[in-house]
Amino acid sequence: SACQPLLPIGNPLRNEPVVFAGLASSTTAFMKEYRDRGGYRSLERAIRALTPEGILTEIEKSGLSGRGGGGFPAFKKFASVRLQPPPRYIICNADEGEPGTFKDRVIMERDPHLLIEGMLIAAYAMGAGSGYIYIRSEYPHAYRILDKAISEAMEKGYIGDRVLGTDFSFNLRLYQGAGAYICGEETALIESLEGKRGFPRNKPPHVFEKGLWQCATDVSNVETLANLPVILEKGGNWYGGLGDGRTPGTKLFCLSGNICRPGLFEIPFGKTLRDLIFGLGGGIPGNRRLKAVLPSGHVSQFLLPHQIDISLDYPSFKDAGAMLGSGSMIVLDDSNCMVNLAFWVSAFFHHESCGQCTPCRDGTEDVYEIMVKIVQGEGKKDYLDYLKLLGEYMVEASICGLGVTAPSIPLSSIVHFREEWEEHILGRRCALGVCPMERKM
Ligand code: SF4
Repeated sequence: SACQPLLPIGNPLRNEPVVFAGLASSTTAFMKEYRDRGGYRSLERAIRALTPEGILTEIEKSGLSGRGGGGFPAFKKFASVRLQPPPRYIICNADEGEPGTFKDRVIMERDPHLLIEGMLIAAYAMGAGSGYIYIRSEYPHAYRILDKAISEAMEKGYIGDRVLGTDFSFNLRLYQGAGAYICGEETALIESLEGKRGFPRNKPPHVFEKGLWQCATDVSNVETLANLPVILEKGGNWYGGLGDGRTPGTKLFCLSGNICRPGLFEIPFGKTLRDLIFGLGGGIPGNRRLKAVLPSGHVSQFLLPHQIDISLDYPSFKDAGAMLGSGSMIVLDDSNCMVNLAFWVSAFFHHESCGQCTPCRDGTEDVYEIMVKIVQGEGKKDYLDYLKLLGEYMVEASICGLGVTAPSIPLSSIVHFREEWEEHILGRRCALGVCPMERKM
């Protein structure tokens, strides 16, 4: 492929925006720029002219679902919190730790007030008086930008007591995590916010009834909240009309790996993986062969070349046994060794397991140790069966999603690329020359 850039480098959004107009800029929109293009008008209208129920109705009509990975209807989450007694909290989950995912960072760095306005709208709709943005420590630039934007919003009277002279009051604080991937899990995040070690909680109770300080809490992703201003501005029906009907709206996709035009793309749900990779993404460099796509960081099963026409929406991915998740797509060409990839994924989860429960703590360690042996040429024939057994045990008995999804890539790789595994274990060689293989007899 020619690998021509689509839009100038420096513009983080690589195609024409639909909802996220503010991302198509190489500079940050602080208060003046944001208000000049109509920013905070949706909030003003919401708190002066709409009831919380009216806002919830618009969100329900829009069909907006959580963009962090779960895809759960936003309306249901907000309405569930509103039904609980006060005090209620809203937390923005900005702990974007999934490998290959960077969309939330771009929103926070380029359009911080879009997120703040969305949070204020959600807080008003669910009757929350306080909120937090929990941001990962690896995003110091986004932290500084948000810090400044929150100060600007306080100065203008959008945050604080009696917002814009109304009865609605809202306090917002920015909280920096300490680098643990597990704190992207909502209950571990809440534990961390409460000043404790980031251990996930057993559910139920769910956070909408007993979340932060055991009070009703909504935990929503950056992209989810950033959709709210445009939904109020243009109406839930308008937003619901975007997409393929199976999942309404648009999604920010993070395209990386062996791809001509890596970067961030906003597209309506329902486009195909082919549109994304070979259309917007410009295809694979050097005309190499597509080997697999890794959706949603390291937590989903692979997609294979014969699935290239899959529709980019939550139900279609679920039907295919994969996860659309946060919208990252890591493209792998035929130079990638799938055993080596499984090794690196196992190292990631071994490092990131919080260690609270045995299936995941010991399971991620055992998987990693087996993978080290395999890539070093010390694998044994029964390792594949053992990996399968370990994986099933982790899926069955782990407390949280990390332990449940950690075996996805190794197991999916064994199913689809078994000959590569056998070559490593029985033949003690890595045909692609990627693994640090030594012949040890
Ligand atoms: Fe911690 Fe893993 Fe258990 Fe989750 S599954 S609680 S990350 S040890």
